[in-house]
Amino acid sequence: MTNAFSYACRDCEGMEACPASVVAETRDEVWKLMELHARVAHDEEPADWDQETRDYLGTLIKPVSV
Ligand SMILES: [Zn+2]
Repeated sequence: MTNAFSYACRDCEGMEACPASVVAETRDEVWKLMELHARVAHDEEPADWDQETRDYLGTLIKPVSV
């Protein structure tokens, strides 16, 4: 049974060299951590992500069991 969600930055196209990954209880929390990571590590502004980018990133969040 899965009880958490994870996101590995290296799964994202163009981010293969990034070692960061996040795991949290809910999808919402993973999104917040992803946005924080993008800001801190990649100098990105998540508020500027378009729907296509969000849809793509959403497919990279996987259910996991911890
Ligand atoms: Zn990253």
